Amino acid sequence: MRDMKGKRVLVITPHPDDAESGAGGTIAKWSSLGADIVLVVCTNGDKGTSDRSISSEQIAEIRKEEQLQSGKLLGLTNIVFLNHPDQGIENGEPFREELVREIRKHRPDVVVTIDPERKWIRHQDHFVTGRVALDAVFPYARDYLAYPELIAEGLEPHKTLEVYLWGTDDPDVFIDIDEHFEDKLDALYCHASQMSTTKEQGRIRLRDRFSVYGPRVNAEVAEAFKRLELR
Ligand SMILES: [Zn+2]
Repeated sequence: MRDMKGKRVLVITPHPDDAESGAGGTIAKWSSLGADIVLVVCTNGDKGTSDRSISSEQIAEIRKEEQLQSGKLLGLTNIVFLNHPDQGIENGEPFREELVREIRKHRPDVVVTIDPERKWIRHQDHFVTGRVALDAVFPYARDYLAYPELIAEGLEPHKTLEVYLWGTDDPDVFIDIDEHFEDKLDALYCHASQMSTTKEQGRIRLRDRFSVYGPRVNAEVAEAFKRLELR
């Protein structure tokens, strides 16, 4: 594992809980190695319940609290809530400018987000978040003449050199999370409103899912990413 001390990482997640599910072990690992990690939560998850006694506003509030707890556990430096409606995030403005603003503000060495390209069944929020995050990285955050109003705010252009995509059909980097599997599980189960199984059942299910990648890096469990290098 390369040196993550002082590395700036920006994680961009569609919903509260997606980052933990796809990359929670890696986030916990990098955080323990001294990386400075900021999470951007794009939607407020306000459609995320089948309990008819809970309103959209209430579930959004619950999910924000859950995300704050998980962030503490993962050792995040900061969490930014963009508060787009669940199932209502749009590819374009103002979302793209918001992500450019966060990239220019936090100036990450690495952006971590979801792979937008699932072939058949995919969540529209996942597609739009991954797609717009990649567009924000290149070229919008980089170009001086894109969003001149951000320059006026003191947010200079920024080039991100590396992107990791979770939830990919085409992984090429595998990260050993043996030491941080329980952190991933704990962080995921902070999102109690979204969990339909006990933590014990969740442990078995998650182990099954991530043990597929373990052997790639001589580990029991590993997370899988598509890694993009930009110049
Ligand atoms: Zn999601």
